Amino acid sequence: MSEMPTLPSRRLEISYNIPISRTKKFWDGLREGKIYGTKCRRCGKLYFPPVADCGECYSSEMDWVELSGEGEIVTFTHIIVRPTSFQDQQPYTVAIAQLKEGVKALAWLKDVKRKDIKVGMKVKLVPRVSEDGRVTYEFRPAEKREY
Ligand SMILES: [Zn+2]
Repeated sequence: MSEMPTLPSRRLEISYNIPISRTKKFWDGLREGKIYGTKCRRCGKLYFPPVADCGECYSSEMDWVELSGEGEIVTFTHIIVRPTSFQDQQPYTVAIAQLKEGVKALAWLKDVKRKDIKVGMKVKLVPRVSEDGRVTYEFRPAEKREY
């Protein structure tokens, strides 16, 4: 997979640098099964994950927009050597997909065999609530071939 840039491991921690009060709708949305991004009211730039301030024009006037979650993988990487905090996890795949709405999203890719993962593969970004109640999101294949 030489065409595939390696994701630096720090990118694996999907972090949010905005106050929780300004992202509450995002987390509430995930619990309701919805994926929200934010769109700058001034220049129209779309962000995922949502940001409170536009990095393009520095406006703080952002609108919440619901995203379809549908997209295509543009790059992915298999994580075999895991960071300490993920030692209890199985080897996993992290993918970046270009969403239909024109924004790129980074998430774990689940429910697909490693050999079946390809650039250009159609995926859907879906919310997930873990057993301990935390909400997150991950990619799943848009079309399931195996059951
Ligand atoms: Zn803007």
